[in-house]
Amino acid sequence: MIVIIAFIAMHLTGGPRAFVLAGESVYFDQQLMPHFTERQMLGSALETRTGLVRWAETPAGRRLIARFNAREYEIDVIEDSSEEGPGRALQPGLATLVAAGDHAAVKRYSLILNPDFRVPPGKNVFPSAQPLTQTDMMAAAWAGEMLHIDFYSRGISLPHHPRSDFQEEWRAVARELGYPDMKHEDDERAIRYVATH
Ligand SMILES: [Zn+2]
Repeated sequence: MIVIIAFIAMHLTGGPRAFVLAGESVYFDQQLMPHFTERQMLGSALETRTGLVRWAETPAGRRLIARFNAREYEIDVIEDSSEEGPGRALQPGLATLVAAGDHAAVKRYSLILNPDFRVPPGKNVFPSAQPLTQTDMMAAAWAGEMLHIDFYSRGISLPHHPRSDFQEEWRAVARELGYPDMKHEDDERAIRYVATH
């Protein structure tokens, strides 16, 4: 019922915003936990959704969801099984980067997730550094790539990985996910794939 009301409200206010999955906004309840529409259930991978739930259960996840669950942001979640890693957050165009402080402008970001990405069998030998489940893998992808989007939304372009504040925030959320030694290793060649909108 809540989901239906959210869905109607979304259409009355002129289309999806914030986190967009399978063409529809993700509805977050008062605890900032996500609820999915039927279209999202049918049109996205289970691990993408369970990973979002897992990330939303962490303090760092809740903080970013609270920040981005607003009409001034649109985060298009794109599932792509041809992606080489578990996820990537495309650097937006310059206009979006410089609009960081403009609350009237809608800032759009693309978040690529690869729910088919697997830890190779036999490679999972360091339990505090490598996700055991596919849900945890996707939760880490949400966490890491949304960190990039958080930096973009503050007008900070790539590279982010050499920054100590980025690495500190990554270590904090990795700890909250239960993988304190996990590395964040997507490659920042995303800079070559500037989103066009
Ligand atoms: Zn990264």
